[in-house]
Amino acid sequence: MKVSVIIPAAGSGKRFGSEQNKIFQRIKGQPIFIRTLELFSGRDDVVQIQLVASSQDLGEIRERFGGNLGFMGVTLSEGGPHRSDSVRNALAKVVADADLVCVHDAVRPCVSSLWLDAVFSEAAKSGAAILAYPVHGTLKKVSNGRTIDETVDRADLWEAQTPQVFRRDVIMKAYSANSLATDDAAMAEAIGQPVSVVMGDPRNIKITTPGDLALAEAVIGSLPKPKPRAGGNPFEEARW
Ligand code: C5P
Repeated sequence: MKVSVIIPAAGSGKRFGSEQNKIFQRIKGQPIFIRTLELFSGRDDVVQIQLVASSQDLGEIRERFGGNLGFMGVTLSEGGPHRSDSVRNALAKVVADADLVCVHDAVRPCVSSLWLDAVFSEAAKSGAAILAYPVHGTLKKVSNGRTIDETVDRADLWEAQTPQVFRRDVIMKAYSANSLATDDAAMAEAIGQPVSVVMGDPRNIKITTPGDLALAEAVIGSLPKPKPRAGGNPFEEARW
């Protein structure tokens, strides 16, 4: 199977509380988005990687990290106002020989290659598969931000993670339906496509607040290193 990878990175730093997009925050000295790209750049089944960046960030990424991206075989696409707009822009550039399209958030740098193998293989079988993890905590619905309205039954509830992987024709059809959703599985669900869940891992965290950076450092130390792309150490930031 040949996989085209789309990495949406065109969000803002709002919830993270910084002026700059959180993708530039560093984990063990390396920007989050570079770590995320490295999860895919050494894989033999990956034939294309697109980093989708906002118009504000494109110049800085080209200037400071163009060399890294070139080395990793990553191309840049421009994002849109919503995550699904960003993914849609990249879908228009998916190479013709890709069998699967994998969408993975730039802000999830803690993924092991075994989890990628599992979700790629399930998507090849079923047409659509995502990493997800059953909800273990007790869920409360709080509508006014202060007091509990009700306790939500957590049986059958899973938290969606990324990667979310689709047969090429499935994701193209899902996105042509033109709906808006916070993840790609929901776009596929909206056209009636069954989406399989593959058991993920709570360590596959999404960096949302500054406290998550320390967690990510610990998690990365606990996972096997991704296979590097042939030809040496890719991370060398351009001086500016
Ligand atoms: O906002 P949220 O944390 O859900 O974003 C998930 C991913 O989608 C992030 O990597 C973010 O950069 C990306 N995103 C995007 N385009 C947007 C909004 C978010 O590529 N308009």
